[in-house]
Amino acid sequence: MAIWPRPFDADFSMEEILKADSDSIHDLLNSSDLTPDQIEIFQRLLSGGVNSKTTYVSANEAYRIFALCGQNIASYYDTNARYQLKEGTISLINKMIEDGKPEVRLNTPVKRIEQKSDHVVITTRAGEILTAATLVCTIPLNVLKDVEFSPSLDPGKLAASKEGHPGKGFKVFAQTKGEAPKVLLYGNKDIGFDEALTYHIGKESSLIACFGNDRADFDTNDADKMQKALEQFLPGIEVTGSYGYDWIADPYSQGTWCVWRPDWYRKYGKGLRDGAEGRVFFASADFCAGNRGYIDGAIGSGIKAAQQIKELLG
Ligand SMILES: Cc1cc2nc3c(=O)[nH]c(=O)nc-3n(C[C@H](O)[C@H](O)[C@H](O)COP(=O)(O)OP(=O)(O)OC[C@H]3O[C@@H](n4cnc5c(N)ncnc54)[C@H](O)[C@@H]3O)c2cc1C
Repeated sequence: MAIWPRPFDADFSMEEILKADSDSIHDLLNSSDLTPDQIEIFQRLLSGGVNSKTTYVSANEAYRIFALCGQNIASYYDTNARYQLKEGTISLINKMIEDGKPEVRLNTPVKRIEQKSDHVVITTRAGEILTAATLVCTIPLNVLKDVEFSPSLDPGKLAASKEGHPGKGFKVFAQTKGEAPKVLLYGNKDIGFDEALTYHIGKESSLIACFGNDRADFDTNDADKMQKALEQFLPGIEVTGSYGYDWIADPYSQGTWCVWRPDWYRKYGKGLRDGAEGRVFFASADFCAGNRGYIDGAIGSGIKAAQQIKELLG
């Protein structure tokens, strides 16, 4: 609470944040006065939550995530797992499209973004040229380095993109036969996942969502492996399927959700923000200062960009 009194406003307590930033979450836990069992539980909870090995992630991310949910572990699970969009995330996207009625183009990767004095020129990989008065850029941090910007990107953004955020874990859904019990499980290295929780209970089949810190170590589509992992906690459970998308191999994401490495506030903090670089407005979950890594962050920085653009265009 002393370091992050305002989770949406890092600048308010930047001095304290910078002091805490060289430590990783792993360092933070191991220098605490928690018992070894408590440390192990927090290791699992936080590796799942930041979707990375805790050695790669700044202690500030643990502070920020807990500040976002009022420093309360029950609220952490309420906000992260319990309350969901009833009809799934697609229902939110469909409502946004219904509301703004934009033209939507899928499968149109952008190769180059060039700013002119009063407009922006976008070149797609297919060679199509599009122009706009302003541009809202939601390209994920780990992908930005692969897009040409003229003038160049802020050096902090570009350097962070090249280093890459460490969200390289996984989320996998295990389908199980019949009604699954309501559980929250913490795994370990041998089990393969850090954290698992009941996601959906159905009469015929249920879903258990599992989170881990390193996708390279875990085949998310291997139902036998999931069976072996889950039956250690739930004897008699029958896993009928397992699925997790490979967000790390996808060239348009190159990672899961964005968390910052140790020392990123000091090294890149100023440039790694949402907002304007000329006529290009960065607005995404990866650049939002408060709810970074969450859909709320994408929405928040999108609203901010819309307000700034309205002001610019008058
Ligand atoms: C496995 C997983 C589970 C998650 N669970 C949750 C959760 O429970 N709650 C929550 O709040 N958040 C969750 N998140 C995070 C959430 O998905 C993101 O915060 C949110 O999608 C960010 O929205 P965005 O618009 O900023 O970026 P994105 O949704 O990443 O959209 C960026 C878009 O840019 C496109 N793109 C990339 N490169 C180019 C290019 N060169 N040209 C054109 N387009 C390009 C991508 O294809 C993508 O469609 C999860 C993420 C993952 C990976």
